Amino acid sequence: MSAADTVPALIARHAEERPQALAVTDGTTVLTYRELADATERLATVLTARGIGPGSAVGLLCARSTRLVVAQLAVWRAGGHVVPLDPAYPRPRIAEMTEDAGVRLTLGDKALLAEAGLPEEQTLVLAERGADDDLEDVVAGAVGVGPAATALVLYTSGSTGRPKGVRIPHGAIVDLTTAPGGITLGPRDRVLFHSTVTFDASTFELWAPLARGAAVAVSPADRPTAEELAADVERFGVTTLVLTTALFHHLAARQSRIFGVLRTLIVGGEALSPDHAGAVLRAFPWLELVNGYGPTEGTTFTSLHRVDPADCTGPIPIGRPAGGARTLVLDEHLAPVRPGTVGELWIAGARIADGYLNRPELTAERFREVPGVGRAYRSGDLALERPDGVLEFHGRVDDQVKVRGFRIEPGEVEHALLQFPEIAEAAVVVRRPGLADAALTACVVPAEGTRPHADTLRARLAERLPAHLVPTSWTVLAALPLTTSGKVDRRALATDTDPDAGPAARDAELTPIQQAVADAWSRALGRPVTTPAADFLAEGGHSLLAMWVVDDLREDLGVELSLADFLGHPTVAAQADLLERSLRDADAQPQGAAR
Ligand code: ADP
Repeated sequence: MSAADTVPALIARHAEERPQALAVTDGTTVLTYRELADATERLATVLTARGIGPGSAVGLLCARSTRLVVAQLAVWRAGGHVVPLDPAYPRPRIAEMTEDAGVRLTLGDKALLAEAGLPEEQTLVLAERGADDDLEDVVAGAVGVGPAATALVLYTSGSTGRPKGVRIPHGAIVDLTTAPGGITLGPRDRVLFHSTVTFDASTFELWAPLARGAAVAVSPADRPTAEELAADVERFGVTTLVLTTALFHHLAARQSRIFGVLRTLIVGGEALSPDHAGAVLRAFPWLELVNGYGPTEGTTFTSLHRVDPADCTGPIPIGRPAGGARTLVLDEHLAPVRPGTVGELWIAGARIADGYLNRPELTAERFREVPGVGRAYRSGDLALERPDGVLEFHGRVDDQVKVRGFRIEPGEVEHALLQFPEIAEAAVVVRRPGLADAALTACVVPAEGTRPHADTLRARLAERLPAHLVPTSWTVLAALPLTTSGKVDRRALATDTDPDAGPAARDAELTPIQQAVADAWSRALGRPVTTPAADFLAEGGHSLLAMWVVDDLREDLGVELSLADFLGHPTVAAQADLLERSLRDADAQPQGAAR
């Protein structure tokens, strides 16, 4: 690989060869490859003047937009690396990440930067197109980087209570984007960018199309509903989409029209349900459905499997290593297991990360030299290699769990819970009432003389941890159950039913619209909701379930709430009021103008 082989260098080449080709659009702003390259150069010059160069960590706190794409590229062009931050994270979490990563400058949207409380001299507000068009076209100073330089630091849950920053080099992103392992991507393709930038799916969504001269279509909604995703796919002519497995299961259960429009759908993050995949392939036989497997440390996709209807009778394989990735199924002595048996999956090759930022011990524990192979990452996943080289996924060796596509170390949440004086012991597990849903569950033992309340604990935890790390279901126990070897019996805790899950007391008659809302909630939550004051989050709701309810209400009543409205008005009564207003407004429209 030559030093020019970085994503910014590939984009610069497309800008020379096909300057007028569409590079990025969010529906309002449209950037051709030439415009993208120019905007990048202008912003890179500004960044260089602000002291950004090789080794500089630059935060990014920006709504999904074309300017976000320009900003990432400009940081790379100036020689720095990007630390994506999620605007939805609580302030202390953002502070913890920027401090750990040594961020001195954060680029982003004015309101988000102010909300995060970052000192003004450490921020730079981005213009609509990513760079001020008035800025001079001076390119001196922009340095560019080689494949070994760090491109991204992506934070993921850490078992000891601190999130860990995964250092992804440029070369790994080039391998992911230029050798996509059977996924066809050419200049005519459009890939939807709808993930959050802190999530590694966005590495593929953004840079795979741009490395190959295709276009990125930016979904403008903060947290798109299923309906908004389908509408984005239709209006932008999206050909290729990446979905978390949880969201795929949700859309598959509804036979979403989205499957009828796409050519390629890559699904990943958790084990793929054969029933859901089979039903989609039967209804949409032309769809190229791909099961994508891989941890953040392996740069989005380690292996890929094109799902065939014949695969859908049992567990769906995770496929063969993609591009320059290599996989090894090893025993505890780092020797290959007997063919056809389960072992731990190690990942080597061109896509693996450089390790964890500021965590030499953790890096040494997870990234090791494997004889005859070189540096490899210990995934913690169990796998079996079939005689044809295709891998099957067999669960985890540790407690790490996935909830709605989010990777969670229960230890991180337990650590945060144990900071509260009223909690003596805590264990966090996942309960799965159904295949398509999972609830992060906190089992806590109160300190003597205290009576902790789930709502208060949840609220206090939400002040420090991102929403996906805050348990949605709570159980207070006198003691944690132990296995015969004296460890916390997580399996027993995960299969226990929630004692709080009994029917809620009915405290008022519901209006017909409130009843419709309560019914939709009950279906999504799997428990009866009977009061207008019921609060969605307190009832165990979360963003994916919110999407279900929004979809149901649209089908039942013909009006759509945005996810922001839904979560901003979390009670049955408040949502019913909003819906009633929308229904009245729709009625008041002159005939024919209602849609
Ligand atoms: P991502 O969710 O983007 O795949 P994470 O680093 O958040 O990456 O999570 C990686 C873990 O998710 C893997 O180690 C594995 O346990 C699980 N995982 C990812 N993809 C799959 C898949 N297709 N099938 C089963 N498990 C998967």
